[in-house]
Amino acid sequence: MDLSLTADPPSAPTAAREGVWLACIECGEASPPFDAIRYTCDDCGGLLEVRYAEPVGFDAFAGEGVWRYADALPLDSGVTIQEGGTPLYRVPELTDDVGVETLRIKHEGMNPTGSFKDRGMTVGVAVARELGVERLACASTGNTSAALSAYGSRAGMETLVLLPAGKVAAGKVAQASLHGARILEVDGNFDACLDLVQELAARGEAYLLNSLNPFRLEGQKTIGLEILERFRADHGTVPDRIVLPVGNAGNTAALYKAFRELVQAGDLAVDDVPKLTGVQAAGAAPMVEAIEAGADAVRRWDDVETRATAIRIGNPVNAPKALPGIRETGGTAVAVSDAAITDAQRALAGAGIGVEPASAASLAGLRKLREDGVVGSEEDVVCLTTGHLLKDPDAAAAAGTEPEPVPDDLDGVLSHLDDRT
Ligand SMILES: *Cc1c(COP(=O)(O)O)cnc(C)c1O
Ligand SMILES: [Zn+2]
Repeated sequence: MDLSLTADPPSAPTAAREGVWLACIECGEASPPFDAIRYTCDDCGGLLEVRYAEPVGFDAFAGEGVWRYADALPLDSGVTIQEGGTPLYRVPELTDDVGVETLRIKHEGMNPTGSFKDRGMTVGVAVARELGVERLACASTGNTSAALSAYGSRAGMETLVLLPAGKVAAGKVAQASLHGARILEVDGNFDACLDLVQELAARGEAYLLNSLNPFRLEGQKTIGLEILERFRADHGTVPDRIVLPVGNAGNTAALYKAFRELVQAGDLAVDDVPKLTGVQAAGAAPMVEAIEAGADAVRRWDDVETRATAIRIGNPVNAPKALPGIRETGGTAVAVSDAAITDAQRALAGAGIGVEPASAASLAGLRKLREDGVVGSEEDVVCLTTGHLLKDPDAAAAAGTEPEPVPDDLDGVLSHLDDRT
């Protein structure tokens, strides 16, 4: 299957419902979207993608949030908690500090459960309802479980989440817990959790809502649509580059799909498509390795480690969609140290934007690419920050100032302040 920007929209199989179908990105096999549960191609096991007979452009969009983009989605409405419509912050000092023409921060931490995963779940859980399944499941580094638990409970469905024991930030486990998910703590890393939950799903025990699920990525496309609409309204152009953290590379794949559909709809010139630029932590960087080596596939890393637990992933399942996305748009991928991630987290916090470590990887990556001369000073850039500061309170406290004990009297407080200045 041709994942290039200029490929024509393929023709629909006769069984397609309302011009929407699923297509295998490897062999092109097409199937109706809601007649059976499938996550990968029946024929070859390749990744599936939702296809539209007539991809829509900006004129089709009305309303707010993710469902503003309903005409670009496989359903007219979803299980909603008012996701999407997140801010695209201006950061004048950071812009000067990084040394680019324009820098805007798309803060996905401002979604209902505090990460972009909500955009995928508002669609994915609605599809689960359409398919008539009873139990939802995901493997998660944390945010997917938080989002699925919230959307699953709103839809009145049972939710099962598999988490790598001891490797999920406190805020995320608290969310899954309060929203009533059954939390299975697996004695293994995220990739092991994903292997397990895929086997459970294959046995029909639960409906899988990891980003392997093609419907989730449809919801996440709206990040790209929002960025382009807002940026164009403010600056009269689209950004040259979008820099984003990469874990399973779902967002990279989703943004690329959003751009391809706009190109097909005639609303975005191929030359204007923003360069998709992925950032990984140095301790979990299989996508960076593949991009640097010019490889067709990603090699699974069995041992991964980083403070940015949301992207502590060694086997990015969406790599077959994301690698063409990075290459075709003229983007790149870069690895950053945990120390650089923490520096970037502090810099964002200094602009009033509170993010979790994985989110700060985008700014850290941009800084590195700017230093290396890969990103030029004339570029208009958007950095995606994927999750809220409160997701990982321990990381925030470790990166920030220390509380100072003081006595319960004014003189004592004043003398403490004098001592310290
Ligand atoms: C899920 C997640 C990521 C990784 O996104 P992918 O689409 O899997 O690459 C990055 N940051 C945060 C905060 C996340 O929750
Ligand atoms: Zn196939």
